[in-house]
Amino acid sequence: MIEIIESAFLTSAPTIRLAPENEFQNEVAFMARSNTGKSSLLNTLTQRKSLAKVSATPGKTRLINYFDAVFMDRDSGEKISAILVDLPGFGYAKVAKSLKTDWESNLTNFIAERKQIRVFVHLIDCRHPDLEIDASVAEYLRDICSEDQHILQVYTKIDKLNQKELNELKKRFPNALMVSNSKRRGVDKIVSVLYKMLKGNEE
Ligand code: GDP
Repeated sequence: MIEIIESAFLTSAPTIRLAPENEFQNEVAFMARSNTGKSSLLNTLTQRKSLAKVSATPGKTRLINYFDAVFMDRDSGEKISAILVDLPGFGYAKVAKSLKTDWESNLTNFIAERKQIRVFVHLIDCRHPDLEIDASVAEYLRDICSEDQHILQVYTKIDKLNQKELNELKKRFPNALMVSNSKRRGVDKIVSVLYKMLKGNEE
């Protein structure tokens, strides 16, 4: 069993230029449209109630938040540390057009330039699996992803689907992970997949 046994807020940065210079530290970048459950997932993964702020006002946080995390394999005792990067939510309609453009170009530059990102975690609301914005993010990630990086698609809020809908989603996206923060389903699987990806990179 793999767990995140330690986690702590590291810093916030408004832009890539102010991102911490931790070239040798592996990063896992979380991205999603606002209100998809990204902050909730970060809290569930780290077993912390409020490490990341669950937003009452969608689209408000525009900072990049960094969290230190230590993954541990309970069977072997082996540990791997990584930085979890909470990227600003994208595609929120109420953000003014010009700001939205700046914000998203900042975000896309960030993820393309940041070589220490080992895993891109792209969260998608399971009730809206076909949004254009998610399709373009997925395509963008495939374009910039290098050989030593991974993309992990995670469908959130699966407690909102009935069994039939969930089966259909799994059939359509057999390689994606499915998670519910409120029911704590699929969380252990994400932690163990991330651990394997980070470990594969060390070997
Ligand atoms: P973010 O904007 O992507 O960081 O999303 P938040 O984590 O702030 O969550 C947005 C809203 O969705 C909040 O009201 C959460 O309580 C709710 N939420 C998050 N995860 C889940 C989930 O797995 N199931 C359900 N039903 N609601 C969730």
